Amino acid sequence: MQPQSPRHPIRKRRVAAFASVTMLTLAVSTSAGAGHLTASVTGSGAGPARLSFSPALTPCMISGSPAVQMSEGVPTRGAYAPSTGTVHALTLMVDFSDAPGEGDALDRFHEFFPQTQEWFRTASYGRLDYRPAVPIRDWLRMPRPFEEYGVERGAPFEPGYRQLVQDIAKAAGPKVDFRDYDLVNVLMTPNAGPSALDTVLSVTFAANTGAPVVNGVTLANVSFIYSRQDDGSGSYESTGYRVLPHENGHVFGLPDLYTQEGGVAVGHWDIMSEDWGANNDLLGWHKWKLGWLDADQVSCAAKPGSTEYTLTPLAHAGGPKLVFVPLDRHSGYALELRTLGGNDEAVCQPGILIYKVDAEVDTGQGPITVHDARPNSDGCTRSPNVQTELSDAPFAPGQTFKDPKARIRIDVTSADLKGNYRVRVTRQ
Ligand SMILES: [Zn+2]
Repeated sequence: MQPQSPRHPIRKRRVAAFASVTMLTLAVSTSAGAGHLTASVTGSGAGPARLSFSPALTPCMISGSPAVQMSEGVPTRGAYAPSTGTVHALTLMVDFSDAPGEGDALDRFHEFFPQTQEWFRTASYGRLDYRPAVPIRDWLRMPRPFEEYGVERGAPFEPGYRQLVQDIAKAAGPKVDFRDYDLVNVLMTPNAGPSALDTVLSVTFAANTGAPVVNGVTLANVSFIYSRQDDGSGSYESTGYRVLPHENGHVFGLPDLYTQEGGVAVGHWDIMSEDWGANNDLLGWHKWKLGWLDADQVSCAAKPGSTEYTLTPLAHAGGPKLVFVPLDRHSGYALELRTLGGNDEAVCQPGILIYKVDAEVDTGQGPITVHDARPNSDGCTRSPNVQTELSDAPFAPGQTFKDPKARIRIDVTSADLKGNYRVRVTRQ
């Protein structure tokens, strides 16, 4: 099957306090999205996320039409990498004759590891056992100069990336059996291409069933990481790795949450929205989608009347994490409790985060929108590179969210001494 043409790339812009920084990471899903519940995956891959669900959750299993390339719908459809259990990530450090790797290739590897595997362990409550593998510990030299691949921002898979994947497979071939891996990370030498301060080239080709086949395995899920996204703030050492969990989020089927306006839709509440600045977690919706929540940790508020729910902090394992209030078969409101802890390093206003999820909206177009409990407040954070306005978006006890058109009301009723919150969902 021929892959679809990747969509026009999205450019994300953001002005930091100290420097003007333009960043771009993009997802190009070339999955045909034919509507199969599970994809047939070759090699060691076990298919995309194993969603936990029960009959009571059926009204909350929203889905998008096949035309949506990368949808927030559940379960995830397409030939994405598995996001639970032990996941083997072939990681290659690649250089070129016109951009030779500087220093030890393993230093490049250690810009991202072990931080990335720890990030996934924490975010998944231990359900994603991420194993980076470096069977080639030196720079893997490509047969053509970097210039020849025509890599630029938003470059499609054809023809440059196809050539690059073929050349990587050929160069690595004698030492790598691609059947051993679920996804591929290509860590480019940082001097290939422009500085990330000018153009962020990092890109993932996910569920790309038309990709080259090596050792009988389709290389459908490959993340390419380019120049360091170092903004000069001195924070790169601790936060620079986070482009990789973002890009790997795509190989697990997660769409981009930033839009052409930057992080204004979701702020710093998900690494698919902002992958710079202080560490941040994934939304509870994404954790369910990735198979990291059990069915009994998710509640579906589909019935008329008033129902109360308890939510425990998303940062801690165990307990109820997500309430979803479906609007129709494609969208609804998600509720979760966000606090300082786990991967969330910059939460300045704990509380119930309320956001709309729309499975009909594609990656980069704003599939998720956070509702701000304190609009036009300018937020509460002083953490650099964190979207400010939505930093105080969570609802506190006593606050209410209303959607009069849908006749939905959400009251945050109380918080207890253990730090758990109670919410009441009323549907008329
Ligand atoms: Zn992205």
